[in-house]
Amino acid sequence: STESTDTHALSDEKPGSPRSTGELIRLERVTKRFGDHTVLDHLDFSVDAGKHVTLIGPSGSGKTTILRLLMTLLKPDEGTITVDGERLFPAPEKQVREVRRKIGMVFQQFNLFPNMTVLRNVTEAPVTVLGMPKDAAEERARELLEMVGLSDHVAKHPSQLSGGQQQRVAIARALAMRPQVLLLDEVTSALDPELVAGVLDVLRDIARSTDITMLCVTHEMNFARDISDQVLMFDSGRIIEAGPPEKIFGEPEHDRTREFLSAVL
Ligand code: ADP
Repeated sequence: STESTDTHALSDEKPGSPRSTGELIRLERVTKRFGDHTVLDHLDFSVDAGKHVTLIGPSGSGKTTILRLLMTLLKPDEGTITVDGERLFPAPEKQVREVRRKIGMVFQQFNLFPNMTVLRNVTEAPVTVLGMPKDAAEERARELLEMVGLSDHVAKHPSQLSGGQQQRVAIARALAMRPQVLLLDEVTSALDPELVAGVLDVLRDIARSTDITMLCVTHEMNFARDISDQVLMFDSGRIIEAGPPEKIFGEPEHDRTREFLSAVL
């Protein structure tokens, strides 16, 4: 199909910046406190390049905090964060900015630029941040917008689109920066139920047809089961169980995991 051809184009370009293999993200002994509340307590985990890892667990267990730490929206109190072999924390500001570019994020709220067209939303950062020529950025943006099913909407403004369409623009915008890893923070939670499937289908397609690494926080357990190489079950800031989706969803070891799954499935 044209869709898979388009998505394939994501993986085979960018001379001089080969896709990494092996460990792409590593958190070591990461502690994060808010006041006297320790949200993450000496957390260790890593994500290998090209893998799709999903964080599940009760609300307040620290999942979103991990994505915010990786986006450098928050700083750990202790520990180290490494991305593609380079320190993200602790690191000098200049290095943080460089390493941070390897990471793209899609938020629960789409955060599009309301006064720009869909096309401009996707080209803006590649042009202004990466210094990409405008023509090349537009060509790439059109490919990405086709991939997320929005070819007919490139000239519209975000307010003219449904929430699901806006979220698909946000996905295209994140990918336009050619990140090595895509962080997805409950990207369907703010959508009307009938719009959720379209967004998840786009993400399934990206997971299947590109080599991008994905780290997702989601309450959509069927989606997690479909796309994940590994599922991490969080409780109170700790990983209490980790494994492939067949194990976590099929034969969970911990009572806490079973309780959580029976409440959400
Ligand atoms: P999850 O994504 O698993 O629902 P979060 O990472 O959002 O959990 O939150 C973990 C805990 O940290 C929660 O108890 C939450 O109230 C607290 N928390 C998150 N952000 C802040 C903040 N900016 N200030 C104070 N507490 C926060």
